[in-house]
Amino acid sequence: MKTETAIAGGLVATHTGVFPATVAIAGGRVVGLVDPAERPDAGEVIDARNRLVLPGCIDPHVHFNEPGRTHWEGFETGSMSAAAGGVTTVIEMPLNANPPTIDAGAFALKVDAVRPRAVVDYALWGGLVTDNVEALEGLHRAGAMGYKAFMIDTGTEFARADDGVLWDGMARIARWDAVLGVHAESNDIALRLRARLEGAGRRDVRAWAESRPPEVELEAIQRALFLAGASRCRLHIVHLSTPNGGSCIASARSAGQRVTVETCPHYLLLDEEAAQTLGPVAKCAPPLRPRAAVDGLWRQVFDGTIDCMASDHSPCPPEEKARGDGDIWAAWGGITGVQTLLPLMLSEGVRRRGLPLERLVALTSTNAARIFGLYPRKGGLMPGSDADVVIVDPNREWTISADRLLYRHRQTPYLGWRITGWVDRVLVRGRTVFADGEVVASPGSGRLIRGPGHADATAPSTGAPSGGRRKEA
Ligand SMILES: [Zn+2]
Repeated sequence: MKTETAIAGGLVATHTGVFPATVAIAGGRVVGLVDPAERPDAGEVIDARNRLVLPGCIDPHVHFNEPGRTHWEGFETGSMSAAAGGVTTVIEMPLNANPPTIDAGAFALKVDAVRPRAVVDYALWGGLVTDNVEALEGLHRAGAMGYKAFMIDTGTEFARADDGVLWDGMARIARWDAVLGVHAESNDIALRLRARLEGAGRRDVRAWAESRPPEVELEAIQRALFLAGASRCRLHIVHLSTPNGGSCIASARSAGQRVTVETCPHYLLLDEEAAQTLGPVAKCAPPLRPRAAVDGLWRQVFDGTIDCMASDHSPCPPEEKARGDGDIWAAWGGITGVQTLLPLMLSEGVRRRGLPLERLVALTSTNAARIFGLYPRKGGLMPGSDADVVIVDPNREWTISADRLLYRHRQTPYLGWRITGWVDRVLVRGRTVFADGEVVASPGSGRLIRGPGHADATAPSTGAPSGGRRKEA
């Protein structure tokens, strides 16, 4: 096939190595990694000298709130922010949209709403809630990429799954060998602590963290591991905040259980002292942790305990944060971050802490692709992979400021951070979607990736590992 685009002169990093190469692209796919000494013969040559060339990031945990709460974000601004951050595929969560994505009808509604808006590729989580175990089959057939459950009340229309619901849901999800993503915090313990704190008149920022201490997460992780182990259901623990939780997951894994785990930049870069200074903008669940926990999590990012980085991009209008000034319980709990995920990991992980580039790529792209059956179409730069590429200037310094952010509401706890590592250009399936600080893709150019339960699901592409099933709409 004739090469349409060549990304030349850069240092390519994948999860297995870092080497100079020209990335040759045709028909939206990578067709070869070529000796950089060869003069590229292509319609378009992208100059990547002094640049890193990485597989596009896959963010498995974003809330874009489409449909029903698009005044909070929406897929258009959400996916534009993703593109600007080097995220070429998002897997979007079933809550904070209204209706929540808990049956086939809601899934179809969401697809219709999102299709004309996305500028990056996307897949959708379905939800496992109190009363929808019978609806999971419909979600599976509609192409849900995984299922999400909360062990703790969400304070939204997305209901918590108690142990009985988890038990039944896991049995079904295990039949399809799909993944259950779990928000692991103990409802009983957290509710009791909160009631006591509120009863004592506490409304300060620290009360939020005191109502959800590390044990609240640890207890729920262990229970989720037990239930999933007994059901033989693949488990993915979302937004891990405590290294003790990571250790439990590592033990279960070494005993043969299929469990994966993600953490978020805010659990690595902010701590409970920062939460004090920042106030409601840094309110999240689980809460930010003491410094020792943060250091422990970094070790697990390095040693492979943690599989992937997710933003848990969870935006809201400014007033939803402002109402927490003086009453932390009243603030929305969620932190934005899809646009800053990769730049922060480049700056604070690779540059400051020496995170190897191979590990960065595994954390931000390859491992998520593997967990969700997208590899090697996504998550790599081998011949046949979608040409989802991020070109990064690893030496450019910049300051995170509101005017750089493309979120509908330009809030971030990282305001004013001076960081090193700049997303220069981003390609989705061979087309440039972001360059020179601007999104250049048109809404609707992002494609839906349906999970393997969809009626038209195809066999893995050549060379795909088992589980590499994937379907494009
Ligand atoms: Zn979330």
